[in-house]
Amino acid sequence: MTRELSRSSRKKVQSLTELLQLTGCADVNDLQALIESEMSTDPLFVDMGADMTSLQFYTESSGYELPWPFEVGRFWRAIDDLNTDLLHHAEAQGLPEWDSAQAAARDDDPHSIIGDATNDLAEFFGLGLDTFVDHVGGGWFPQDDSELVGLHEQTYRWYGSGQPLQVLLGIGRDEAVVAEPIEHGAGLAGPAWLERGRAEHVLLRREGTLRRLSEQVRDMETLVRSDLHFCAGCRVVLSRGRANQQCRSCLGRYYGMIVD
Ligand SMILES: [Zn+2]
Repeated sequence: MTRELSRSSRKKVQSLTELLQLTGCADVNDLQALIESEMSTDPLFVDMGADMTSLQFYTESSGYELPWPFEVGRFWRAIDDLNTDLLHHAEAQGLPEWDSAQAAARDDDPHSIIGDATNDLAEFFGLGLDTFVDHVGGGWFPQDDSELVGLHEQTYRWYGSGQPLQVLLGIGRDEAVVAEPIEHGAGLAGPAWLERGRAEHVLLRREGTLRRLSEQVRDMETLVRSDLHFCAGCRVVLSRGRANQQCRSCLGRYYGMIVD
């Protein structure tokens, strides 16, 4: 049976034996190799499930379970869906990552554009740079995700925008997260300086994804800006989450304190 024929087939497959026959596979290893040949990445695992009541195939990042009996066409669609998941996962993983050297360069020059990931994000969303910036703004830099709290089963690549940070954008396989950044201590860049506060999830690649994302980013900006704190001395904006009422420079200048 050719794949084209079986792809649209509504024939119900009752058992593994029948599926092996229909796909021309000698055994489960053969079947695994057949499914793998349709996939963009490996490894893939095929399992019969407990009590042999379903066929399961999965990768490190997603999986599908087809309870017996299922239509032949459903079998191929599940493989296609899994493949799409894998591609999206790979795309998200391919976005720029936190780079401590780039972050250090930005600390020296707050106006530096080294490491600006806005263009890569626009490409990820399939948008022109201007359209992307119109909707969610620019100045997105990779954040060190190792210390962002509340991580889910999904892996996110985290970006932040604003000085001090006003919004975090996490990109996962099938959803984005717009989150409130909470900076610790004296605003040192690096592990243990950033936490994720309130968060909103937006499904990717849906009708209205961009509009939802835009709304969430603007809402988060408004929220965060409304409770930004200002130095009681020189009135500069203080890093969020810091305990002092004065900036480092004022603490040194007016109170003789050395803060690092
Ligand atoms: Zn100050």
